[in-house]
Amino acid sequence: MKQATPVVHCELLDTGYCLAWEHHVIQGGAHRRLQCHSLVALLHHPQHGWLLWDSGYAPRMLEATQALPFSLYRRATPLFLSPQLAVCAHLQRRGLTPAMIRRVIISHFHADHIAGLRDFPQAELIALHSAYADVAARRGLQAVRRAFIPALLPADFQERATLLPAFMGVALPGLGATHDLLGDGSLLLVALPGHARGQIGMLAHTQRGELLFAADGCWLTRSLREQRPPSRVTHFFVDDAQAMRTTIEHLHTFAQARPDVMIIPSHCPEIFAREVEQQA
Ligand SMILES: [Zn+2]
Ligand SMILES: [Zn+2]
Repeated sequence: MKQATPVVHCELLDTGYCLAWEHHVIQGGAHRRLQCHSLVALLHHPQHGWLLWDSGYAPRMLEATQALPFSLYRRATPLFLSPQLAVCAHLQRRGLTPAMIRRVIISHFHADHIAGLRDFPQAELIALHSAYADVAARRGLQAVRRAFIPALLPADFQERATLLPAFMGVALPGLGATHDLLGDGSLLLVALPGHARGQIGMLAHTQRGELLFAADGCWLTRSLREQRPPSRVTHFFVDDAQAMRTTIEHLHTFAQARPDVMIIPSHCPEIFAREVEQQA
């Protein structure tokens, strides 16, 4: 008999927000500022214990963006962070310690997804090899061009990293091949290229049903519903604008084929209001 897929318990954590122009994050958007929170998923697997999907913002992001050229990042997207919103503070309120986090899955290396990494000195760090290879040697302006801040990576990143080759597993509609992270079908990683080199998403089998963490495959849920990509202004730090648009189309195809799956981009204000604010 086929084993049932284990159910992963999932909770979304708010790690703070930046202000972004709506007409930047979606073509044809209004001239108003949006609060784009950076969401992290805290996951508990019955056999594999605690995992994190990304590590979000953390207060060290403010120090790391004080001087040029990294202050450019902060000027482009003003930050609203507080120590209480760091993932490690969320864990503490739940009676968990950083050492209990066994794995952190990194969707991509933009600062708003890795600023909390140093708070988990014992975790295995999982990312696509191509994602790390693209940023590893970048410094200064070359790093800013990829929204990457080298100081946010733990000094022993390489020793703790599992850098995955391109995925070859069972395909998801529209999105293509997956990688079965734990070998039991509970967490399937999938490539979401374009926004950042080697960006990944994750389909999770949770107590709330199937969730697709879409990272920055799109910023707004509306973007994939209406197949409207971000404005060209954002191309400054985007890896491959054509691939980014194709990924949005692929997410749209996936959403049509799998209406049962809730898609969770990391920064969508609509998802934040409904799934985090209202749940609190
Ligand atoms: Zn990003
Ligand atoms: Zn982001």
